Amino acid sequence: MSAIEVLTLDHGKVSLDAAALDTLRGGLRGEVILRGDAGYDAARTIWNAMIDRHPALIVRCRGAADVMRAVDFARERKLVLAVRGGGHNIAGSALCDGGMVIDLSHMRSVRVDAKARRAWVGGGATLGDFDHEAQAFGLATPLGINSTTGVAGLTLGAGFGWFSRKHGMTCDNLLSADVVTSDGKLVHASATEHADLFWALRGGSGNFGVVTTFEFQLHPLGPNVFAGLVAYPFDQAKKVLGGYREWLPSLPDDATVWVVARKAPPLPFLPPEWHGKEILVLALFYAGDPKAGEKVLAKAQTLGTPVGSHVGAMPYTAWQQAFDPLLTPGARNYWKSHNFAQLADGAIDALIHSVKHLPSPHCEIFFGCIGGQTMRVKPDATAYPHRDTLFAVNVHGRWETAAEDAAGIAWAREFYEKTKPFATGGVYVNFLTEDEGARLHSAYGSNYERLATIKKTYDPSNMFRNNFNITPA
Ligand SMILES: Cc1cc2nc3c(=O)[nH]c(=O)nc-3n(C[C@H](O)[C@H](O)[C@H](O)COP(=O)(O)OP(=O)(O)OC[C@H]3O[C@@H](n4cnc5c(N)ncnc54)[C@H](O)[C@@H]3O)c2cc1C
Repeated sequence: MSAIEVLTLDHGKVSLDAAALDTLRGGLRGEVILRGDAGYDAARTIWNAMIDRHPALIVRCRGAADVMRAVDFARERKLVLAVRGGGHNIAGSALCDGGMVIDLSHMRSVRVDAKARRAWVGGGATLGDFDHEAQAFGLATPLGINSTTGVAGLTLGAGFGWFSRKHGMTCDNLLSADVVTSDGKLVHASATEHADLFWALRGGSGNFGVVTTFEFQLHPLGPNVFAGLVAYPFDQAKKVLGGYREWLPSLPDDATVWVVARKAPPLPFLPPEWHGKEILVLALFYAGDPKAGEKVLAKAQTLGTPVGSHVGAMPYTAWQQAFDPLLTPGARNYWKSHNFAQLADGAIDALIHSVKHLPSPHCEIFFGCIGGQTMRVKPDATAYPHRDTLFAVNVHGRWETAAEDAAGIAWAREFYEKTKPFATGGVYVNFLTEDEGARLHSAYGSNYERLATIKKTYDPSNMFRNNFNITPA
């Protein structure tokens, strides 16, 4: 095997010969995948097909010892480095061109202590892995809405899901983490050990090291929950959203209702003549007794005249996978996001305008309603600062071919610009796209300076920079 060239952090290149690669391989339980190897293309494929990067080598780790070895190898040679968890980040930060990828996608173990209501989750586990294990004991922690998303990137960026109003952001439920820092050492970060690092991990994204295990607080939930969808003809959007806005403050923390606007997919509960037409969907979830949820959320059916609805008691794990068919990997995705503290008339008007001009049947706009417990935590209690956010708003631009890029991107940007006056100015770091480095301070907000100081302690040479990067102070 001939030598390979790898890009370095000082914009040079280093040559790795067969002996160097054999030494790396020999120190691993996992594998090293190079260009030309069978499996290379699969290993460099992530959720967003717009990202097409070619790392020089992919180190697929099997445990913390492999990660330590890989970090040492990268640091000693100053290699450009990326870290892959679930590979869902829209900006493609799981991959780099020409450098090394530390790939955790085989570190998916989840161990649950049902009595203590705790879970230890591997750095490459997906939300589906976590829910599967925790639900075996009727337990859960708030996670996102697509089961193939990585727990790691979601938690490090903060994370929210269907019962965040009750139990907060995902990162609010993090109890500790095992982290391989830039010096190749494994440290345990918690409220009492490396407390500064623990603070930074809860919203500071992948800037501080490679998390090999997360420890989470679990809560009783399910196995059945009340959840479902109520779909309205889009010409009722203004009326329905007006009613929704008035109703929302009376909802208990157990309940949430998200808004999704898009062309109707061919869902069995929608009459065929509605397939492909614009609809406004209310997505309901109740985190307590399903019978109580049915009563609390009944009003969702009466805010207009629905075209169809599918609601009822269902397994929590089924609801956690309900959106998977609309969010499969392999499409081209471009997002624009803001945080809203309220739903202004102007934002509703912008939504109505944009949904009348959808560039592809896969595009949608959603208002993820959080609030509740997520707002009761102080903005400086964790690195995630957006405790004023009632809605995380996201334009999911999504289509099949590169020829559709320009129109889709322009559409997403137009909605973003039109709704800017009604947003808080903050944005969820996990919804930023590749071209949004300039919005870094909107993502980390008032916590940036403290993050930069902690970055200097744990990653002074900025090895972990293939992300929305915090420069060491
Ligand atoms: C279809 C879809 C639905 C989503 N829904 C939600 C939602 O409901 N709620 C929500 O909060 N977010 C949601 N997200 C956003 C999601 O939180 C981010 O995309 C997140 O970055 C995904 O994490 P990952 O591990 O899959 O990503 P990756 O692309 O693997 O990694 C993301 C970032 O985290 C770093 N990283 C990954 N693993 C580790 C690790 N073990 N240690 C250190 N750094 C690491 C990477 O280097 C990278 O910078 C969604 C995303 C998609 C694509």
